[in-house]
Amino acid sequence: MGRCFVKNYSGGIRHDYKEQTGDGTGMPVPRWPWFLAGLFLPVVGILLVILSSAEDTVLPPLANPITTAGATASRPLSLPQPGAAAALAADATAAASTELTSTRLTVQSGDSLDRLFRRHELSLSDLAEMVQLAPARDYLVRLQPGDEIEVAHREGSIMALSREIDRIRMLNINKAASGFAAEISERPVEVRAVGAHGIIQSSLFESAQAAGISDNVIMDMAGIFQWDIDFIQDVRNGDEFTVIYNELWRDGAKLQDSTIVAAEFINQGRLYRAASYEDPNGERGYFTPEGRSVRKAFLRAPVDFARISSNFNPNRRHPVLNTIRAHRGVDYAARSGTPIRAAGDGKISFRGVNGGYGNTVILQHGGNITTLYAHMSRFADPRLGARVRQGQVIGYVGQSGLATGPHLHYEYRINGVHRNPRTVPLPPADPVPEAYRSDFETISAGLWHQLDVYRSAQLAAASN
Ligand SMILES: [Zn+2]
Repeated sequence: MGRCFVKNYSGGIRHDYKEQTGDGTGMPVPRWPWFLAGLFLPVVGILLVILSSAEDTVLPPLANPITTAGATASRPLSLPQPGAAAALAADATAAASTELTSTRLTVQSGDSLDRLFRRHELSLSDLAEMVQLAPARDYLVRLQPGDEIEVAHREGSIMALSREIDRIRMLNINKAASGFAAEISERPVEVRAVGAHGIIQSSLFESAQAAGISDNVIMDMAGIFQWDIDFIQDVRNGDEFTVIYNELWRDGAKLQDSTIVAAEFINQGRLYRAASYEDPNGERGYFTPEGRSVRKAFLRAPVDFARISSNFNPNRRHPVLNTIRAHRGVDYAARSGTPIRAAGDGKISFRGVNGGYGNTVILQHGGNITTLYAHMSRFADPRLGARVRQGQVIGYVGQSGLATGPHLHYEYRINGVHRNPRTVPLPPADPVPEAYRSDFETISAGLWHQLDVYRSAQLAAASN
């Protein structure tokens, strides 16, 4: 069943970050607490109603851009197989006396590739050449016991090497006249669209489990709707969700859950829907039936697992200088080294030491908005002038400059005027571009229909 093709695996949707829901007491307000709450909150005398069987129902293939846009032609593995070795050996260009041998190297505890090559009498100079190849380096240096590497060689001289990076990607190195060339290929996986539906009678997570949905998928779904639904405060018994997502399969075995194609959540009678859409420029996101992005253009807080240690306050006594000095940002206390994320898409307009702010990054966004991130322990990769995307890591929490402990000092400015990052109205992220609106409507129409059909089928099955 289903079509079989290579899919560009994206590792699931990128999570956006939950808006800080401070209670104004200055008490720690961890983020994503609903995740733990959902897992561990006791069920208060409520029976879980399972409307979906534990088995996911396989839907007919969906004509949607997620499963098709990423498809590339299936590429065969380039490592010569045993049969191919014989063929190659018989090749007129090969010296008649040398035979192409396929060897499987199995990594044992304490092995480096160097040791493996010595043990199997393989060319160390070939190895030295191969580890110089940019895409190969990472995947040849880090080895785990049990890892397997296949090599094809002639009397120790390497002709090809391949290694499974994960269940989808493969590193292939081949020797050509000009030397070794490395590439990372994706192995053919079958993408199956499945649907699940649940009614919340306890916590979101328990209902998801009952509907046979993994924590990853339900986290992704909550991530999609997080800008509209507060999953700690707003979810009620009787709320419903329907989700259509992809699973990756190979050789009849499920590898993992993949991206959500479309989802809906009925929260206290109000319907929220989102469908994934990638426009012809490769811009991807989740959009409402009207083509609006489900996201805001800015994260409310640029760090996870942080608590607010100092609020925006024009009349604050500075903790180090002990003078009255406006606090024109929000401080998030977090462990040193906690990643700091770009609050919105933008360009790095400052990256360096900025007096008492210590290591500081300033981002220039559209709409004459700038955001500032201070006291970093260190910077992440993006350099001055680089474009960054919302959620991209730009640095790490620290206490450089004038700071009493590790924290992020975060500022939000519109036209140069400081605004309270916790309360400033955040602009919506860009909608589907006008030029692609009809494309989006055509594609998403099928998905809304699938959600309708799936939900009513599940409800009908439950009432029989
Ligand atoms: Zn501060």
